[in-house]
Amino acid sequence: MTQTTETATTLREALNFVGGEWVASSSGTTFDVADPFTGETVVRAAAGTRDDARRAVEAAAEAFPAWAATPPAVRQGIFLRAAEILESRRDEVVNLLARETGSTFGFGMFQMYFTPGLLRQAAGSAYAPLGEVIPSDVPGALAMGLRQPVGVVGAIAPWNAALILSLRSITMPLALGNTVVLKPSEWSPVSGGTLWGEIFAEAGLPAGVLNIVTHAPGEAAGIGDELVEHPAVRRLNFTGSTPTGRRLAEACGRQLKRVVLELGGSNPLIVLGDADLQYAVDAAAFGCFLHQGQICMSARRIIVERSIADAFTEKLVAKTAGLKVGDPKEHDTIVGPLINRQALSTVAARVQDAVDRGAKVLVGGETDGPCYRPTLLMDVPDDSPFAREETFGPVASIEVVDDADQAVERANATGYGLSAGIITGDNQRGFELASRIESGIVHVNDQTVGDEPQMPFGGVKDSGWGRFGGSAAVEEFTELRWVTVQAGTRHFPF
Ligand code: NAD
Repeated sequence: MTQTTETATTLREALNFVGGEWVASSSGTTFDVADPFTGETVVRAAAGTRDDARRAVEAAAEAFPAWAATPPAVRQGIFLRAAEILESRRDEVVNLLARETGSTFGFGMFQMYFTPGLLRQAAGSAYAPLGEVIPSDVPGALAMGLRQPVGVVGAIAPWNAALILSLRSITMPLALGNTVVLKPSEWSPVSGGTLWGEIFAEAGLPAGVLNIVTHAPGEAAGIGDELVEHPAVRRLNFTGSTPTGRRLAEACGRQLKRVVLELGGSNPLIVLGDADLQYAVDAAAFGCFLHQGQICMSARRIIVERSIADAFTEKLVAKTAGLKVGDPKEHDTIVGPLINRQALSTVAARVQDAVDRGAKVLVGGETDGPCYRPTLLMDVPDDSPFAREETFGPVASIEVVDDADQAVERANATGYGLSAGIITGDNQRGFELASRIESGIVHVNDQTVGDEPQMPFGGVKDSGWGRFGGSAAVEEFTELRWVTVQAGTRHFPF
């Protein structure tokens, strides 16, 4: 029998977390989140409003001075305790990810591996050097570039990889001495939201340092507007789709407010003729279909050199046809449900449209209950929405090219630029090609999906700007100031 994740069927109720208190929404209403596979209600959460967001910002602003002045040892201790608490709740969290977001066991475990590491690295960054002494030509002047926390950070997170992406949106800002208001996705209010309130409160985070406002579908804009327009919010940290990011960037521009944008992708996976065939097939299947292709870094376009194309395609089609589709709580399921029925019909419509325009379905191309079968397309026209926009599901196209130069040209024929992979038996050649690919992330001899907390993660072009991880996050979530101290007195000309 297939091993199955423990399926607690209790309904989880979630309130907003404001100023260290669990509070109902000012609207007095709630909304339900359904298990994407079974359709049963799994979460009932507070339907927060713009007023709730304002209160959360006020609580964060009030908590900021004391948190910014908290010794690094205290901040570090809180993050280390949070990592331990999270690990002690592993089975519950993996189950929650499956029930709230349709995450398979494998992807749930990956999220549970990544997030304690992120917390522990953030703990270390409490001691990151935050300045430099800069030589000055003014006699007696000690000139410094000093970094300080910015104040309140607004964090807006998506539902896919809910645990990782919500934590990524709050961790480094908090560790660097900022306070945060987190707005989770309406599809993951607990696993991408209130769970962190529980864990950080238990870990000893002071009241008001982290605030969380959940909201019903269709109600994101009011809370987003408050985070953009409230003067106490000094940075917006957004992960989500390119259209939403573009809208927020425009609004932040009017406020002259800096925003980090981690957006969508149409990620190319290049397979060169000298690649190990089986390795290339395994890498492509993983890159395309992990978490049913609902990852910003998922491989969407496989670009394969002609000499290996037939053999590669035949093997990849066979492997794809054998991937188990179904209940994400069964541990050997590879492709679980899409997040909701709307996502399912969008993916189905995109594929149908591509087919209507002349694309061929090599495998898949149909729904299976709440799932979409892993799908490979060929001959997708360049002007089709499938080719031009991100299709957030288990569907990739295969394109055959004559040589590596043409592969690079085709890889760059997109508005996006998040991640790319080059599978080759010659790493030196792969490294040379990597420099010509327009994307924030390139993996040589690997596929497109991968993340580690300390890496400068982020995209170029329509995939956004700004970087998470390590020193890059320090630049995003601190203010660099020039401070001088003059020894003695200076001579002024008048
Ligand atoms: P989405 O843009 O629909 O939503 C993302 C977040 O924005 C959610 O919290 C949503 O409630 C909020 N939002 C929506 N409209 C808003 C508004 N007007 N004002 C303020 N907030 C608003 O994206 P999604 O469907 O949740 O996530 C999938 C998308 O995210 C994909 O495009 C994927 O590629 C992208 N993504 C990018 C990264 C990355 O690191 N680059 C990581 C994961 C996902």
